[in-house]
Amino acid sequence: MEQIISIKNLSVVYDKGTPAEVTALSDIALDIFPGEFVIVFGPSGCGKSTLLYAISGAERRMTSGELWIKGKDLRKLEGEEMISFHRQNVGMVFQAYNLIPTVNVFDNIILPLVFRGVPKKERLEKGKDLIEKFKIGHLAKTRPALLSGGQQQRVGIARALVNDTDIILADEPTGNLDSQSAFTAMDLFTDLNVDNKKTIILVTHESQYLPYASRIVYMKDGKIVGDVKQQSRKVSHVASLANNNGVENKEGFSLNIERLVNYLEISLA
Ligand code: ADP
Repeated sequence: MEQIISIKNLSVVYDKGTPAEVTALSDIALDIFPGEFVIVFGPSGCGKSTLLYAISGAERRMTSGELWIKGKDLRKLEGEEMISFHRQNVGMVFQAYNLIPTVNVFDNIILPLVFRGVPKKERLEKGKDLIEKFKIGHLAKTRPALLSGGQQQRVGIARALVNDTDIILADEPTGNLDSQSAFTAMDLFTDLNVDNKKTIILVTHESQYLPYASRIVYMKDGKIVGDVKQQSRKVSHVASLANNNGVENKEGFSLNIERLVNYLEISLA
């Protein structure tokens, strides 16, 4: 199978040539294949976020090496071309949710479509579908500050899906969540990976989430120090949610995974 992401000898050095010089990534080589759920795991400061943002195209300070996404050489993409490539291929989920505080939940979800110039009717349809399926329809007009962490992250994941990209990147997405909301978020990522064939690369320093990965890439001091495929990974929790046809989580939401998956299969496939 052809790699969806191919990284060769990638190094990123911040503040090169100054006393503050830091080698964040050192000679990274990594091939990621369609449909993988990769967790990049390692201690704080080991270079995980730098790697993720390099893949997203947002980190442009590559000192050396090559980075290919879907056969495109990221080094050759500039300006508008880069932005449009990113929007079409990569959805991002953040630890701090990165929701716009001054606009409501609905507008936060459809924001990427606004940037892409998608017509209003299509934006409204897509936003309505996602917000319903993520069970946050009743919060459509609410500003993010009034939501719980789990609700905000659900908005963040819905927004990452709105462009229907094949690749979802997640930067410590559970970092600000209580443990139940965090596991619910991990279940959503698993659904998107297993049922919707999204390629997921998720960065974390918390080992409790490793069972969800189909592959774990271990990092230390800017280097990859381990790369392990997991044959049996954690999907049972999702299956049990699906069987329950709607499970109350801590926030009192009924999270119907089965319907979510059906929706995603129809509208995002
Ligand atoms: P992780 O995500 O594993 O915590 P990072 O990729 O954020 O690691 O950071 C790797 C190293 O690069 C750290 O030493 C960090 O301090 C440094 N670093 C990260 N971003 C910058 C930046 N914009 N400027 C300078 N140094 C940075």
